[in-house]
Parts: sequence; structure tokens; C-alpha cells
Amino acid sequence: MKILVALKQVPHQDARLDVNGDGTWIKEDGIKFEINSYDTYALEEALRIKDAGEAEVVVISIGPDRVTQALRTALGMGADRAVHVNDDALVGSDSLGIAKTLAAIGKEESPDLVFMGLMSDDGNASAVPPMVAELMGLTSATGVLKAELSDGNVRVERELEGGALEVVDLPTPALLAVQSGLNQVRYASLKGIMAAKKKPIDVKTAADLGVADAVGSGGAKVKIEKVYQPPKGDGAELLEGSTDEIVTGLVNKIKELGLL
Ligand SMILES: Cc1cc2nc3c(=O)[nH]c(=O)nc-3n(C[C@H](O)[C@H](O)[C@H](O)COP(=O)(O)OP(=O)(O)OC[C@H]3O[C@@H](n4cnc5c(N)ncnc54)[C@H](O)[C@@H]3O)c2cc1C
Repeated sequence: MKILVALKQVPHQDARLDVNGDGTWIKEDGIKFEINSYDTYALEEALRIKDAGEAEVVVISIGPDRVTQALRTALGMGADRAVHVNDDALVGSDSLGIAKTLAAIGKEESPDLVFMGLMSDDGNASAVPPMVAELMGLTSATGVLKAELSDGNVRVERELEGGALEVVDLPTPALLAVQSGLNQVRYASLKGIMAAKKKPIDVKTAADLGVADAVGSGGAKVKIEKVYQPPKGDGAELLEGSTDEIVTGLVNKIKELGLL
């Protein structure tokens, strides 16, 4: 069995984000990055299937040089190899451009399962996984809280609005976009990190994958007009400082209001 896991590297959850000069994205200089939280659960789920039997786990990511770190972490956790699409031509891509790039790798790899996150912690579109499924001709489910494989099928528990659950059966190959919290994500062991240094990362460009016309700002049908912080409302106060300072400030405010 072959399992693909698409993971995105996103700003660290503690990073202080500022809008860039032309107001169309965030300033990326000087901030730390990490694997998108939903994608860590997707990877863990794939690694559990590998641990339970025979499976090759291939991690794929699109992004600049810094993404190598995310892929090395995933390899250290137990993935077997990685594909890194590293090409400036991808800058400015919309969700469909990203999906076409991931689907091009998916078609080359012909996996039995594709795991992705339900959404990214930064872009938040929740658009890429269903697009990849459609482009690859796979069955798919989103909001996945549990996945059990048997005889060419995968039984999936999905989260519905209001906490209700739905159980669906999908024939494989299938794509599952996972909800956070469906498992306990492992850490990369020291042995795993050492072993990861020898595992291959295959670097590709948009042209290698035949998607050069579909990506970048030229290929994007969706244009970001503006990224901005909403104005503070009346009576709202923004707490500044480190995470510790903000938490302490918030607790003090709650005490001041007599709520604690
Ligand atoms: C016009 C436009 C310009 C943009 N310009 C930039 C830019 O210059 N720089 C920039 O960083 N972003 C840019 N973006 C955002 C970027 O294209 C988004 O990452 C993309 O649209 C995917 O949306 P999302 O992150 O909300 O993914 P979602 O659909 O919320 O992601 C769901 C899942 O898809 C998978 N996935 C998503 N992105 C990747 C990835 N890169 N690699 C592997 N798996 C992935 C992951 O499994 C993830 O959990 C731009 C977007 C638009 C619309």
C-alpha cells in the first residue's frame, strides 16, 4: 500500500504576524514556521497504518527552501520519502493552482490513500483537498475523525455540525481530509531524526509536473485584493506582548471584571 500525505508549512502558532508592504500577504521574514497542525494528524494517521502493516508513506509539500525542515521532521517521524515542489513560479498561486500541483504528483505516484488536513492554519480555505480528489478522480471525505481500512474500502467517521457524527464507506483509492484531534501525534525520535538524513527528498518544479500554466499569479483565477487586521471595535482592547504577557494580561482583565 502507498499513502501520500500533503503537508503545508505555516507560520508558527506563536508567531506575531504583520501584513506585508503591498497589503496582499503576511511578512514572512524573521518568523518561525511549523507543519500545519491538521497535517500532523494526517501524517500520524498514515504512520499508524504503516505501523500496523506494509505501507510506504510519501510526504509532499509545496513551498520555498524552508519547507525542507518540515519534510525532514515528517521523515524523522517515520515517513519513507518526500517530494518537495520548490519553485518561485508557484508564488501567488490560488487554491486550484496548489491543488493541480498536488494532483500532478498524486497521478505520478498512484497512491491507495491520500491524507490531507481539513484546512490550513493560515489560508483557512478548506478548498485544496476536495479539488485534489476531483482532479485525481478519487472518492473523498472531509472532517475525518476516524478511518478504518478493510478489503479495498475505508470506513470513515466524519464530524457534522453540532457534534453529530456520520459514518461513510468509500472505495479506495480515496482522499481523506482530517479533522484535528483524531489521534495523538508522535514526536520524531532521535533515531528517527538521524535516519531521516538518509531518506530522499525529490525536488520538483511546476514545469516538471506540467502545471506551469496553472500556477503563480498568472495562473490564479482568485486574486487577493487586500489582507488587513479588522479595526478595533468600541470597548475592545488588544493585548500586546509575548504569549505569557498576553495570558497574564487576560487573566488580570477577567479578575478585574469579577468573572474569576
Ligand atoms: C491570489 C493568491 C495569491 C497567494 N499568494 C501566496 C503567496 O505568495 N505565498 C503563500 O504562501 N501563499 C499564497 N497564497 C495562499 C496559497 O495559495 C494557499 O496556500 C492555497 O490557496 C491553499 O489554500 P489554504 O492554505 O487555505 O489551503 P486549505 O485548502 O485550507 O488546505 C487544506 C490542506 O491542503 C494541503 N495543502 C495546502 N497547501 C499546501 C501546500 N503548499 N503544500 C502541501 N499541501 C498543502 C494540506 O494538507 C492542508 O491541510 C495565495 C493565495 C491566493 C488566492
